[in-house]
Amino acid sequence: MKTVTAVMRDRIDQEMMEKAGAILKQGGLVAFPTETVYGLGGNALDEQAAEKIYAAKGRPSDNPLIVHIAEFEALERIADGIPEAARKLADAFWPGPLTMIFNKKELVPHGTTGGLETVAVRMPDHPVALALIRAGGGYVAAPSANLSGRPSPTCAAHVQEDLDGRIDMILDGGDVGIGLESTIVDLSEGVPTILRPGYINQQMLEEVIGRTEMDRGLLSDDSDVRPRAPGMKYRHYAPKASLTIVEGPQERVIARINQLADEGEAAGEKIGVIAAAESTQHYGSGIVRTIGSRSDEISIARHLFGILREFDRLEVDRIYSESFETPQMGQAIMNRLMKAAGHQVMEV
Ligand code: AMP
Ligand code: MG
Repeated sequence: MKTVTAVMRDRIDQEMMEKAGAILKQGGLVAFPTETVYGLGGNALDEQAAEKIYAAKGRPSDNPLIVHIAEFEALERIADGIPEAARKLADAFWPGPLTMIFNKKELVPHGTTGGLETVAVRMPDHPVALALIRAGGGYVAAPSANLSGRPSPTCAAHVQEDLDGRIDMILDGGDVGIGLESTIVDLSEGVPTILRPGYINQQMLEEVIGRTEMDRGLLSDDSDVRPRAPGMKYRHYAPKASLTIVEGPQERVIARINQLADEGEAAGEKIGVIAAAESTQHYGSGIVRTIGSRSDEISIARHLFGILREFDRLEVDRIYSESFETPQMGQAIMNRLMKAAGHQVMEV
């Protein structure tokens, strides 16, 4: 299959958008930018489109997809028993990086929900995404547009790297703004439960709807505690190199990473270092990449997946990373970094 790329960085190309919408209506696949990461879209109400998404990504089909909508009214047709909390959260955060889980209505095929009786729904805050959803019939199922197990794509080139020849079209909207996937909150039963941390953190949610809980699987290192978000059991964001997070007082972290990088290079290994802007200058060995400034946490979020991909391309053997416990997005950043590291942390 030939994958067509349509560039829509500064304005929407209406003709190509119509083509993209027609592809979705005919059951094809279109990758598109959102404010979080690039999504791989198919018609959410078409079971076969969901199958194609799983095949293109090489993703296990029990890992449910998020349904993207462009109007709040669209929610009523697919979600059953929408609680008041959902309306409040939608008022506060939609369009935006928040996914809510509801009991599903008949209209949503099990192919889209990975066999579950619940459906995950989000309204993305990106003009290209919203235009595509409208052009494609109103319901676009979309996981991140990467091959399963690779870091999520934060620009169109990442999508091409993984999916060229496997999907019909890529809409290139430039670099994304946030760079980490949406926050997921389960509203289908009991106390609203956060299944995946993101840009919108627990405190922001609680300011709107009161008490929420963190999924036990998220808080635990014990892989026997099964998270409620099925996808979380799969290995994610895994770079080819082994990644270790080094934690502790900043000076000691820098000294230890320098020592480990020297030892690795002496042994003939290629070493990658992920550093905050504030400490980059203190590293003497390895391939050092600045992830962003500690005073601008969104810059850290935005660059994480791109740096992991770059280290894959450079065929780095080992990666050492500083830890980034920033105030708003720290939990989301560390959740992704910990998964990429397979929970390998070194305390100094
Ligand atoms: P991605 O699109 O790659 O960010 O992955 C979507 C993720 O959303 C899945 O891996 C699940 O963790 C989560 N998800 C989607 N639908 C549901 C659902 N009905 N219940 C729980 N988690 C869900
Ligand atoms: Mg994903």
